[in-house]
Amino acid sequence: MTRIVGVTGGIGSGKSTLTARFAESGVSVIDADAIARTALTPHSPCFKQAIDLFGSDALMPDGTANRRYIASRVFEHTDLREALNGIVHPYVLTEMLRRTEACEAALAVWDVPLLFETGYDAFCACTIAVLCSEELRIARVVIRDDTDADAVRARISAQMKDEIRAQLATYTIRNESTMTAFLAESDALIERIRKELE
Ligand code: ADP
Repeated sequence: MTRIVGVTGGIGSGKSTLTARFAESGVSVIDADAIARTALTPHSPCFKQAIDLFGSDALMPDGTANRRYIASRVFEHTDLREALNGIVHPYVLTEMLRRTEACEAALAVWDVPLLFETGYDAFCACTIAVLCSEELRIARVVIRDDTDADAVRARISAQMKDEIRAQLATYTIRNESTMTAFLAESDALIERIRKELE
């Protein structure tokens, strides 16, 4: 059975940088956010259920989801956000498990920003929290996403704090120095985990 390494961390901490390194070493990486984005595409098994939650205004004339409308309703109503999560989370989990089984490898990496919040860590043989100061994360995401610092701050304030991630994770890795240093530390951690789990 494939053993799962769960990678988490706040926005801009360096999760994608670490998981890309896993991928370069030949390990399949399964990205929860990328799967979640497909939940509201017409071929997804939870599309109809999600649209029914919001009514016909949630559909564009071409039959695709009106993401802007859905986002505004979810922003205004916590109960709608929870109901949508209740539809999307099981879909994402089922799809992650399906892809994990399909990769037929000894090891797979799950990239899940809300790994502990969703309880997906229960499926993992070990977990890694990528830690980084909020100041640095904001600076990196402003450049990466061409956005402003307040927008990044708002997303950070909705996420779990690093201190809690660090307590819950099997391994922690700090990303507050140069990219070269982070890549070297990532490679060392990957080697250690591969030795332990493969
Ligand atoms: P996450 O996936 O956690 O949101 P990323 O891995 O995308 O974070 O990193 C955020 C941005 O910061 C990316 O543009 C990445 O290339 C850059 N980055 C990551 N680590 C470093 C570092 N140590 N030094 C400089 N830039 C970095």
